[in-house]
Amino acid sequence: MMSAVGDNIQKIREEIAKAALRSGREPSAVRLMAVTKTVDDDRILEAIEAGVDIMGENYIQEAKRKIETMDVTVKWHMIGHLQSNKAKYAVRLFDMVHSVDRMGLAAELDKRSAAAGRVTSILIEVNVSGEESKRGVRSDDAPALVREIARLDNLSIRGLMTMPPWCDDPEDARPYFAALRELRDRIVAEEIPGIGMRELSMGMSGDYRVAVEEGATIVRVGTAIFGARVY
Ligand SMILES: *Cc1c(COP(=O)(O)O)cnc(C)c1O
Repeated sequence: MMSAVGDNIQKIREEIAKAALRSGREPSAVRLMAVTKTVDDDRILEAIEAGVDIMGENYIQEAKRKIETMDVTVKWHMIGHLQSNKAKYAVRLFDMVHSVDRMGLAAELDKRSAAAGRVTSILIEVNVSGEESKRGVRSDDAPALVREIARLDNLSIRGLMTMPPWCDDPEDARPYFAALRELRDRIVAEEIPGIGMRELSMGMSGDYRVAVEEGATIVRVGTAIFGARVY
């Protein structure tokens, strides 16, 4: 019998496929990340059982415990705010960091990656709305940040990530998703050596369908898979 988590994942996959087809994209071009902050190991295992192979975590401590004790072969991505002094843990624990939004953090991740003998995949987090309270580099400043980070040998830029302002109606998020895609296209046109711009990490439980229609390649879904978070 399929678990509730498994049922939810199956429905979300169907919705992702429909949204992709509506916009003339291949469903396989979109990867589903299960956002597992506060979620216990048993339910994470149900998600893995249902075929999800990317887990998104927000906090180093919590992620470290899960990654080191759960015996699973999935990818773990860091999607939360990262302090520079935690860069050394992030490099060891994660396959990708979605929340790089400043040169100081990038430099620290690069240094720690070099020390660990690895290259860390990253996304640049962009504050598309320009709201004061939001993390992320401003859209206008993003190309310069990408050019600067592109020179670091031990980081590999793979694309962009955003969180739109919170809204009731997912349609209200559409302009922000479209803006991230257009920013990506502008950066691609610059032909900056040594970077990739394939990934657009955007869309959460309430608005992932719209994000897929606007070009998301990774959607980050928590509540719609696991139910409301209990802190
Ligand atoms: C918590 C979180 C999500 C998942 O949000 P839901 O609304 O529960 O799907 C996605 N992205 C980031 C960066 C988050 O912190």
